[in-house]
Amino acid sequence: MRQLYFDYAASTPVRDEVWEAMVPFFRRHYGNPSSLHSFGQEARSAVEKARQQVASALNCQSEEIFFTSGTSESDNWAIFGAARACQNRGKHLITSTIEHEAVLEAFRQLEKEGFQVTYLHPDKYGTIDPKKLMDAINSQTTLVSIMYANNEVGTIQSLPTIASMVGAIRRRRGREGTPLYLHTDAASGKYLPWTVDKLGVDLMSLGPHKYYGPKGVGILYVRKGVPINQFIYGGSQEKNQRAGTENVPAIVGAGLATKLMAKEKSRESKKLEKLQKKLTSLLVKEIKDIRLTGHPSQRVPDIVSLVIKGVEGEALVLHLNKMGMAVSSGSACTSTDLAPSHVLKAMGLKPELIHGSLRVSLGKETKTEDLTKLVTALSKTVKKLRDLAPKVEV
Ligand SMILES: *Cc1c(COP(=O)(O)O)cnc(C)c1O
Repeated sequence: MRQLYFDYAASTPVRDEVWEAMVPFFRRHYGNPSSLHSFGQEARSAVEKARQQVASALNCQSEEIFFTSGTSESDNWAIFGAARACQNRGKHLITSTIEHEAVLEAFRQLEKEGFQVTYLHPDKYGTIDPKKLMDAINSQTTLVSIMYANNEVGTIQSLPTIASMVGAIRRRRGREGTPLYLHTDAASGKYLPWTVDKLGVDLMSLGPHKYYGPKGVGILYVRKGVPINQFIYGGSQEKNQRAGTENVPAIVGAGLATKLMAKEKSRESKKLEKLQKKLTSLLVKEIKDIRLTGHPSQRVPDIVSLVIKGVEGEALVLHLNKMGMAVSSGSACTSTDLAPSHVLKAMGLKPELIHGSLRVSLGKETKTEDLTKLVTALSKTVKKLRDLAPKVEV
């Protein structure tokens, strides 16, 4: 039986071109980029070429691109780095309650270190109101971090609006005033525009394994002039900011995957939008008592999220897995601890509904007929589980 994969938001396979570009850097070009001989120079030029590829995709300068070990590290570095670099000027920070744990936990740690953090609540669609954000900014605010799109429900935030409001406050404060920066975790915004200037962000995190690149490598964009504290101490890699021998094969893969994603995203997202429409209409038609979650239109094309009354999301995932289909009961990062999703909770869903949450994410290999198979299997499973479950009022 062919296994069907519907969890592209958790991770994706490395695409052929990327794999082929990476392979020589494991065993043939194995030099250390910091070495002066030709082995080292070869590795160095591969790393710098990848940096250039990412910079072109984001329409920025290559000095503004840093390689990390993943989106989690990029988020941590951006948040700790900027907050601490500005702490003599202000110790108030703003984020939202629907961020990824890599963002939320960084802010919680900063609270322990004496920072004040405002956590903005979304509306029922998972949207953060830019006006509420503006009201939360005070004279001590130095950093705002709002994700580009949510990884569980797919809602897109009005980042350009937020950026222009933050920019207006920054101009009002003036050159000598308290600094104010905007970070975004863009790991789930892979089908959205990446041009950082148009977006107006100062710091942006990306994770290539979400778009057919390798795991173990992340990207952090830092606009020129934005101060961030050093993250790893040791050697002078990544402009003296993040020590450690570069993960050359992964960086090579990250560069090419980012370049290809930027080139193909508008075509791919049109294709996915059609599949997404098809899937949502099938779900609504075939399964009773479900509710689609996230924003109805302001959403990424690869994620469909829903809650199903009277069943447990985890049970659905396990049953579907036995039937050869991989879906998620929320985000991959939290689905093993069985705690109800903090995102759905923040959106105001009742706990008994949250337990029935499911995320189906689509990608390159998804075909229309796969969606029919999935909905048929899901419908059968839901029926079976509902028949087994004791009746509860929801
Ligand atoms: C996947 C993801 C992360 C974490 O990425 P890692 O590769 O696990 O570090 C962070 N934020 C968002 C929005 C994500 O989708």
